Amino acid sequence: MLMMQLNDGTHIPAVGFGVFLIPNDGETYEAVLNALKAGYRHIDTAAAYMNESDVGKAVRDSGIPREEIFITSKLWIQDYGYEAATKAIQTSLHNLNMDYIDLYLLHQPYSDVLGAWKALEEAKADGFIKSIGISNMTPKFYNEFVPQFATKPSVNQVEFNPYFQQQALRETMKADGVKIAAWAPLGQGNEALFKEEVLVQLAEKYHKNVGQVILRFEIQEGIIPLPKSVTPSRIEGNIDIFDFELSEAEMDAIRTLDKGKGNHDPEAPGVGDYLLENYKIHE
Ligand code: NDP
Repeated sequence: MLMMQLNDGTHIPAVGFGVFLIPNDGETYEAVLNALKAGYRHIDTAAAYMNESDVGKAVRDSGIPREEIFITSKLWIQDYGYEAATKAIQTSLHNLNMDYIDLYLLHQPYSDVLGAWKALEEAKADGFIKSIGISNMTPKFYNEFVPQFATKPSVNQVEFNPYFQQQALRETMKADGVKIAAWAPLGQGNEALFKEEVLVQLAEKYHKNVGQVILRFEIQEGIIPLPKSVTPSRIEGNIDIFDFELSEAEMDAIRTLDKGKGNHDPEAPGVGDYLLENYKIHE
């Protein structure tokens, strides 16, 4: 598996397996086991996905040494603020049944971000978390919060796919060396994206499917895609992207698909309050 170095010196597998919306009733367990068998060594979960325990169980039952698997999880906004976050990090460790998490992110850029970040920094210093990062931070949120952080984030996990290539954010974060991890790397299965002529032609040329061409594009852009699937053939296919290379002209052709905006706007009025009120992960 190709590894990328983060700005704190740690290494992250260049592709991760996403488990958003997969139930914690054995389905996540099954999907993660399939993913590990297919060769993924990076799993992306979150406290808010309520499936950390299935992820942890699959990792243990896989027989693969813990240190060979990279686990990302995320702090939910209900637990922002220093004290709540400190406690919630321990809850994630408990649910995963692990003694450290490789990467822990602030899932959303709202509420007491600074207090929550301080808790992440401390947990990193105490060895509970190896790397810390953020998610859904647009250039505006990044410029508001990150200059106030004592530690630079290693990763910003944001919506990214050929329709939304995050040019402004990449420019904003360049000096800090923050890597982008892509959620919705396949556009959440967006049919129009899968029918784009340039992608269809490249898939034919390289005897790959369109999903593989998209994910390969992202890797070559230095982005860490986190494709999600519960379908075994897709789980396997989405990581079988290391035996071909897109030329610079082909990369340029895919770059022209950028529409400059995604489906989710973290800056839309009321998003933070809506999430806080409607997604409660505990009492
Ligand atoms: P994806 O872009 O990964 O798309 C997943 C969808 O695409 C599923 O419906 C899946 O179907 C389908 N699919 C998977 N592979 C293929 C393929 N090769 N061809 C066609 N369709 C395919 O979207 P997600 O929203 O799941 O994002 C990925 C991960 O990012 C999440 O699982 C989560 O870990 C993370 N995430 C983080 C967010 C954040 O706020 N930080 C927000 C959203 C996601 P099926 O499963 O039926 O095969």
